[in-house]
Amino acid sequence: MEFEPVIGLEVHAQLKTKTKIFCACSTSFGAPPNTHTCPVCLGMPGVLPVLNKKVVEYALRMALATHCEITRESRFARKNYFYPDLPKGYQISQYELPIARHGFVDIEVAGDLRRIGITRIHMEEDAGKLGHDPDRPVSMVDFNRTGVPLIEIVSEPDLRRPEEAGSYLKQLRSIVRYLGICDGNLEEGSFRCDANISIRPKDTQPLGTRTEIKNLNSFKHVEKALQYEISRQREVLMDGGQIVQETRLWDPDKDKTTSMRGKEEAHDYRYFPDPDLLPLVIDEEWIENVKTNLPELPDAKKQRFMDQYELPSYDAELLTSDRELADYFENCTREFPQPKKVSNWVMGSLLGLLNARGKTIEDSPVSAVDLARLLALVEEGVISGKIAKTVFDEMAQTAKPAKQIVAEKGLVQITDTGALEDVVLRIIAGHPREVEAYKTGKTQLLGFFVGQIMKATRGQANPKMVNDILKQKLQG
Ligand SMILES: [Zn+2]
Repeated sequence: MEFEPVIGLEVHAQLKTKTKIFCACSTSFGAPPNTHTCPVCLGMPGVLPVLNKKVVEYALRMALATHCEITRESRFARKNYFYPDLPKGYQISQYELPIARHGFVDIEVAGDLRRIGITRIHMEEDAGKLGHDPDRPVSMVDFNRTGVPLIEIVSEPDLRRPEEAGSYLKQLRSIVRYLGICDGNLEEGSFRCDANISIRPKDTQPLGTRTEIKNLNSFKHVEKALQYEISRQREVLMDGGQIVQETRLWDPDKDKTTSMRGKEEAHDYRYFPDPDLLPLVIDEEWIENVKTNLPELPDAKKQRFMDQYELPSYDAELLTSDRELADYFENCTREFPQPKKVSNWVMGSLLGLLNARGKTIEDSPVSAVDLARLLALVEEGVISGKIAKTVFDEMAQTAKPAKQIVAEKGLVQITDTGALEDVVLRIIAGHPREVEAYKTGKTQLLGFFVGQIMKATRGQANPKMVNDILKQKLQG
């Protein structure tokens, strides 16, 4: 029997505000435990939360970027549960009236365009963090993260394959980073995802029982966990069993999910409107203002890169996946207006270098302008394309400009006809058998001679001139 997976994602994005959602404590990461706390975020009796306006603005940006309807009067609610990292015994979130609903995000997987619905976006506060001492029977709690603002983006169950889930997640991350509202750091947990998944016999409508997978802190884990869960559920059903609705934990070391707890229903949390916070009223002027100030978003930028620079879809997609990378490309192209050549260098040598060093484009050791100047040297015939790669590596090591490296290392291309002729004649004289073979019709040996000449000139000979001279001398 063939099954079809039905997948929905719940994504939490930590907002990059300076202060927490309901108090003035700092949100910065990595401070000593419990140093960014006050009576409000510690949930002391008698304190009152005051909403951070920036949080609402950031949530509005995301809502508008994902084509959501804005709720003109939304409400904060208390989500009640007991856990040691939650000092108030409830989390302030939004429930019946979230700030935004009914949006969508477009994704492309292997050439297929898919529109993924967004059910809702709501604002909420984060909980604290528990640490467990491996040597003693002791747990410690750090409340620095308590009250740090989050938005939760809940998708419709529109995803059908693990690759689509990965692609949707990457697209969301790209959008929050473009908007400047979240750093998108999966390892530090500022962008995290839970996945709901069920399977049903192909071409049927009713949804199967779903499980929720937690602890997905990389794109790879999301796809692997979903693949695992799909085959696990299929096996259970094929054996005549039933899927239990539950929360499961992804174990990246063992490559499997394990049962964590039975799934809570909304009523388990006894939601009710928070009496300490007024309804949140958002007027048209504010919405218009946020809308006008939205930056160009990944989809629009990709289309523009294809139109304006005539780049293939693949290049445009990759270059616009990150706002800084797109800026780098455009800065470089402004100086060296041959977009496809710039794109090849950025996607090849530059990203290769950054990946190898585990760096992002912001810390690129080669600036966009310096790369443009290097490409100009190739274009002007000062150095060969092959030497350019050597110069690029040297630029990355020393941060020196291309011109200086070329001068210091004497890498200028040999374009002197006399000098090149000497080398060509020397190589020809050294390989009489190959010359004989060439003359009897083995013309593919030309490549062999070019290789020998390049070796002899340490790659500095002008390839076109070498070809011309070589053909002429071999025929002579
Ligand atoms: Zn505080």
